[in-house]
Formats: sequence, C-alpha cells, structure tokens
Amino acid sequence: MLRTFTSAAVTPVRTIAAAVREANAVKALDLSSSPELVCSNLMCENVGEACVCRLSRVLDRLSALQWLSLAANNLQCLPESVCSLPSLQYLDVRQNALIALPEGMHGLRHLEYLDVSDNDLQSLPSSMLGLQQLRHFAASGNAKLRNDHVFQVLQQRLSAVAR
Ligand SMILES: [Zn+2]
Repeated sequence: MLRTFTSAAVTPVRTIAAAVREANAVKALDLSSSPELVCSNLMCENVGEACVCRLSRVLDRLSALQWLSLAANNLQCLPESVCSLPSLQYLDVRQNALIALPEGMHGLRHLEYLDVSDNDLQSLPSSMLGLQQLRHFAASGNAKLRNDHVFQVLQQRLSAVAR
C-alpha cells in the first residue's frame, strides 16, 4: 500500500532480486513481511534470523528510491546505508524490534514521512533534528521513547507544523 506517496502510477518492487535488476530505476520498494529479510548467508552471525546484510549491499544502487517499507520483519537494526538514499521521501519500519535508528538519519534530506511505530526504541539519534522536510512522524508503541529529548523536540516541532 502506497500511503502518502505522490506518484500513484508507481507500482512497488517486491523483491530484492527485482530491485537489483532495476537498480536506479526503482522508485518504490516494498519489503514488508519479506522472507528475503530472513538471513540465508551461512557466513553471517544472524543466519536463520531477521537480518539486513543482503539488503544493505543493495541499497547503494537504488539512487532513485523514494518509498521504502521494511515493516513487520522483526528487524533489530536498520542498515546504515538506508541513510544514503538520496531521494527517499517515505520510510516505513513499523512492527519490527528496533532498539535504535542509524546515527546518520540526517542524510535523508528529503524524508517527509517516517513510521517507526511498534518497535522497542530507547532513544532517537540527535541527527534527526536535521530532517527539515519531515512532516509525518508516527512513533506510537515505543514506550521507552516518551522521555527522550529528541523525540520530544520532534513532537513539538511537528505539531507546530500541523496547527
Ligand atoms: Zn545476515
């Protein structure tokens, strides 16, 4: 489902293999509940579990990606390379097991929509305060986040935009 995605004509790519094939033509990638995010690399310490090692290597090639969903995969971390997607506007990582977000989040200069609901986030990286385009930030279901300073600043800023 392409919520809040401006270009309704875009059909999201649903597999990592297809994303590799289409590379910098891919605008939307939907890997929600994806069996491809269960690691099959015998050399990886996470083999058999949720892991982003394969995705991490692919993201570098997706320079036109605007919309990315990694929802509902039991991920404990996001690859740092998520922050290097120069065109990303929409990022949905809800319903995972994330404890933290990457430090380099400010690299997502065009990010407008971020959904981190239903994870286990303890705090947010202060670099998120540099996300000038962010308009929608959903973070419910992260009980430990309530007292985080960065979270509180973002909440205030975004409610100010909405008013
Ligand atoms: Zn792995």
